[in-house]
Amino acid sequence: MCEYCRMPESNYLTVPFPIDHIIARQHGGSTTLDNLALSCLHDNTHKGPNIAGIDPVSRRISRLFNPRRDRWVRH
Ligand SMILES: [Zn+2]
Repeated sequence: MCEYCRMPESNYLTVPFPIDHIIARQHGGSTTLDNLALSCLHDNTHKGPNIAGIDPVSRRISRLFNPRRDRWVRH
């Protein structure tokens, strides 16, 4: 299951989900289990190395969802 959108991997054609660095290596993220997440190709491609984005409503910088720190139901 994608840890960002909760889509089951079985729904995703034949391509296995990539492993995402929650905090990208270029930002000092480690390659350890606490920083790795299973991610669908869509979310992995759109997130890339980003750790924040601009909220389209408030126009403020907002930290991206972190599946190790944030609760999905509040996301
Ligand atoms: Zn996803």
